[in-house]
Amino acid sequence: MTTVIEHCAIATVDAAGTEYADGHLVIAGDRIKAVGPGPAPRELPDDGSPLRRVDASGALATPGLVNTHHHFYQWLTRGLAQDAHLFDWLVGLYPRWSRIDERMVHTAARASLAMMVRGGVTSAVDHHYIFPRGTGDLLGAEIAAAREIGVRFTAARGSMDLGASDGGLPPDFAVESTDDALAATEAAIDTHHDPGFSAMLRIAVAPCSPFSVSTELLRQAAELARRKGVRLHTHGSETVEEEAFCHERFGMGPTDYFESTGWLGEDVWMAHCVHMTDADVAAFARTGTGVAHCPSSNARLAAGIARVPDLLAAGVPVGLGVDGTASNESGELHTELRNALLINRLGPHREAALSARQALRLATYGGAQVLGRTDGTGSLEPGKLADVVLWQLDGLGHSTIADPVAALVLGPPAPVTLSLIGGRPVVEHGRLLTADEHEIARAARTESRRLADCS
Ligand SMILES: [Zn+2]
Repeated sequence: MTTVIEHCAIATVDAAGTEYADGHLVIAGDRIKAVGPGPAPRELPDDGSPLRRVDASGALATPGLVNTHHHFYQWLTRGLAQDAHLFDWLVGLYPRWSRIDERMVHTAARASLAMMVRGGVTSAVDHHYIFPRGTGDLLGAEIAAAREIGVRFTAARGSMDLGASDGGLPPDFAVESTDDALAATEAAIDTHHDPGFSAMLRIAVAPCSPFSVSTELLRQAAELARRKGVRLHTHGSETVEEEAFCHERFGMGPTDYFESTGWLGEDVWMAHCVHMTDADVAAFARTGTGVAHCPSSNARLAAGIARVPDLLAAGVPVGLGVDGTASNESGELHTELRNALLINRLGPHREAALSARQALRLATYGGAQVLGRTDGTGSLEPGKLADVVLWQLDGLGHSTIADPVAALVLGPPAPVTLSLIGGRPVVEHGRLLTADEHEIARAARTESRRLADCS
């Protein structure tokens, strides 16, 4: 299939920040063939494939959004522990989370993905770290869901092996043994990981956090990931309580602790990174370690404001994340562009903190950077994968904002009129094409109630 999109504004998010007030895109198969000003050339190469022309008047085309941090299973436990900070929130939720099973995870993953994809996400990550014994193939369940929805997916195989009796935060019944966690993670890589350019599925190695994982698991997980050539992901420097935990237990802050266990590097990205000293920011920059900025979750759990302007100025790769929907009930990424801009302006850099274009870059190219996929995703350029979103900006919510990028970032959530993932339409006129969202809503409610009843 060849798709020609014309008469729209285009923000390519390439290195030069090229934009067209009125431009075109030509997509052949799963790749972008051409991007440029004005209408598409009248003569298109005829390779015999069907041709679709899209008149995208009133829309803005951007690269698909990349969500770099999430916990899909939390879709079933939204709206709980509403006024708690991270540690109290976790302790309150662990008992319920430890009762999840394969059907619940599959349903929660479908719901989480449907919500994000309908809002312009084309690449998604799930960090899943709770694997109760005898509850089925939880990683396989979310991989199946991602395949059904048709999203480009990284399953970050998480783990926890530091239960309360060993000084960790999670209860003992919620953790695995170190050996079980490593063996299952290696098996996930061997079974599922696709290193190819157009991969729809990759695996990352993702022990949960310094207060739920042993030093030995962190060390061995880093070795495993490097032996297999996959990326590393975890939570880092999220709260003052985590910082105090690291100083008390290891005699150093989280970033120094991560460095001592092999966890800084250009193959690593960490969620949050709120409580960072200047030396921590410099260490991330020196090693090329990436950050998943999750502004709504950080606000919901009163964690603080990540130093995004400082991270960017130092050259640290930064993407955006929804985080789990038990700490960000919205579940949408396109609203995080606005939240990232607004929340960072409340910090010391004030109005210079983050521009609308920087917010768009975080959500697209920045996300591709932290996932190590700028070769094929993150910007609209010939030769890249056709992960493209059209946002309709001539309706009530946006028509008086002349700058389309400002309309997208500062205005209300913009309707997605078309989303392509690898050239395949997954959303048209705000409707998900690959799944029935009403059926998913009903199933998610049923599974959420089932989890509440059995915990
Ligand atoms: Zn998280």
